[in-house]
This record gives sequence, structure tokens and C-alpha cells, in this order.
Amino acid sequence: MSKKKLGLNTVCTHVGEVKDEQFKGAVSPMYLSSSYEFLDVEVKRYPRYFNTPNQAYLAKKIAALEHTEAALIFGSGMAAISTMFLAFLKQGDHIVVQNTLYGGTVNFIKEEFPKYGIEYTFTNGYKVKDFDQAIKPNTKLIHIETPSNPLMTITDIKAIAKLGKARGVLTSIDNTFASPVNQHPMDLGIDMVMHSATKYLGGHSDILAGVVASSEAHIERIWNVGKNLGGNLSDMTVWMLERSMKTLGLRVKAQTKNALKMAKWLLKHPKVAKVYYPGLKSHPEYQLAKSQMSGFGAMLSFELVEGLDAYQFQKALLLIKSSMSLAGVESTVISPHLTSHALLTQEERDAVGISDQLIRFSVGIEDVKDLKADIKQAIAALQ
Ligand SMILES: *Cc1c(COP(=O)(O)O)cnc(C)c1O
Repeated sequence: MSKKKLGLNTVCTHVGEVKDEQFKGAVSPMYLSSSYEFLDVEVKRYPRYFNTPNQAYLAKKIAALEHTEAALIFGSGMAAISTMFLAFLKQGDHIVVQNTLYGGTVNFIKEEFPKYGIEYTFTNGYKVKDFDQAIKPNTKLIHIETPSNPLMTITDIKAIAKLGKARGVLTSIDNTFASPVNQHPMDLGIDMVMHSATKYLGGHSDILAGVVASSEAHIERIWNVGKNLGGNLSDMTVWMLERSMKTLGLRVKAQTKNALKMAKWLLKHPKVAKVYYPGLKSHPEYQLAKSQMSGFGAMLSFELVEGLDAYQFQKALLLIKSSMSLAGVESTVISPHLTSHALLTQEERDAVGISDQLIRFSVGIEDVKDLKADIKQAIAALQ
């Protein structure tokens, strides 16, 4: 059967299974060996070489989901992104990065790149012209994130891929927020896709992992650096990630559906001043999101009206938890001004539109009526 023709949920369930030849069990056996036969074998297996059975096979599922040739599994999203960057950037090179990136990625760039002599420019915005203006003769990579955290801005993926090709610069994307269920950047011409698998791919808030997917040639280059940096995922967790990903399609579709319902409901709520969700017609890039995403994702943000304390609101929620992370089957909220953007000054936060009233909402699989009731009672408790 051709893998291209398999549907999303079939890929999630079956592609990249390790066959249990010995006992014919229904699920992949877990191979925990860190030591494999060395003499006269075709593949010299070692966990740090990304080629243990569980790592190598799960990579096939990731590649199939991202519509590409190959993938690698890492110990965290940051291990994935840092290895990808260091595979394509050396001393004297330059990278153009979107201004609104995951905080850990920003820290990695600012704290580590100067030590390697790698130059970087954060764009002034997320429009194509902002990336175009930032390209220099030594630019080797453009890195984007869409939808972005926490205001869900949408970057034009196809246009960025085209810009990269026209200027001879590779392009990469952090596809964590959309997940491979809702967005396929490789189909739009992007060269490399990475995820924090800690989020939707894991989906149950119990795994730290990362992945990169791309062509065989790019993955080989990343592999060469990855085996030196050693940011691999233990095979026990690889197995857990495989199990989690069987329900990726089901989970993320249910979460995406819930998010649209919640966004529309919040938009009408008298105590909510603003809602940021690419699936709302009021979102400035609604049409662009519609054209490049197959679903609008399950992340949204909203602002409570002035006078309602965002901190007290979160404390008053009974079902929805406050959490620094996101994308689990359970709904969670967080104040970006207390977490991801806590190190910025008030003026800097005002400039990027992160108000103290802003709440980021990772919508789970619960029944929408219960999520609405929880938000309702929390707002009532504040009045
Ligand atoms: C969480 C996250 C990361 C970092 O992933 P870790 O698994 O925590 O290392 C990178 N990008 C985005 C968008 C994230 O949400």
C-alpha cells in the first residue's frame, strides 16, 4: 500500500510500527538495548545514532505525517531546533528569525550564537517584506513560527518558501502550534519542519520530546551534527510517543473543533475584550490561515475586560488548569505577561500587544459546555 494514499488516522495508527516478529503482538515491542551486535551487521545500531528500532521506525511516522522523506526524534523540542540550526549555520553565517518566536528559541539564539560567531536578525514584523529586508549576503536560513505565540499571528508560509528559494536561503518552521494535523509546510515549499513533540505529538502532558522532518539530504546533515550533540530521546519515551501519536489525529481534530467553538463564544462574552484565533473572521489573517491550514488549531488567546484581574480569574477556574506548557488533552491557561514575556519591560510588552489582561488558552478535548461553565463561574466569582 502506498503511504501517500493512507489517511491521517491510518498513518497515526500504523505507519512506523516495529513489527513483533517473535510473538506477533499488536503493538511495537520496546527495544531498550544500548548495545547491539557489531560484527558483520549491515547497520551498527546505537541510541545516539538515532537508529535503534523504536527511533528509526517512529521517524517514519513523523516523515509520513509531514509529507516528507525523513525525520529524526530528539530529547526535546529545543534539542531538535538547536541541532537543526547548528547543522546549517557556522561561524560567519547569518540567520533571519521571526520576531515572535517561542521564548526558548529566542534564548538559544541570543545566548549561544554569539559564542559560535553566528549572526542573527529578528524581523520587525511577520510579513514577507520584514523577512526580505532582513536578508544579508551571508544569510543561510530563515526561521518562522506560525501560528505564533501568544497572539496567533499568521505568517505566509508559501511566500516565505518562495522568498528563500529566490534568495538562495533555506527555510525552516516551528510547526508546533498547528501540528501536522492542521498544517503541512513541506507541501508549501518549506525546507525543514520541527516540533516540540512535548506538545500535540505527545498530547498528554507526560513526555518531553522533539522532532525534525525534511528531505533525506537535509536530515543526513542534521544527523551528522545530532550524533555529536547527543540530544536523543530514550527508547522508552520513544515508545510512549508512538503510543500517544496513534490518537494524534483524533485528539487534535477534537481540540481544533472545541477551540473554534470556544473562540466564537468568548468573542460574544461581555467580559472578554478581545479574542485572538485564526479561525475567526475578525482575525487579520483569517483568509491566509484558511488557505494554508487544514484546521485553525486549538490554541487561542483572549483579553479580559479592564477591571477583571487575569491572575484571580485563573485562580478561580475549577476545571481548566493554569499551566506553563500546552497542547495536552486537558484545557490549560496561562498569562503570557507572567511567563513567556515576563522578562520584557511594560513598554516592550505594550509594543508587542501583550497586555496584563491577556490569557493564552490551550483548548483540550473536554465537553465545550463544561469549559464554558468553568469560565462563566470564574468570571462570576471575580465580580
Ligand atoms: C514548547 C515549545 C518549544 C520547545 O520545546 P521543548 O520540548 O520544551 O524543548 C519550541 N517551540 C514551541 C512553539 C513550543 O511551544
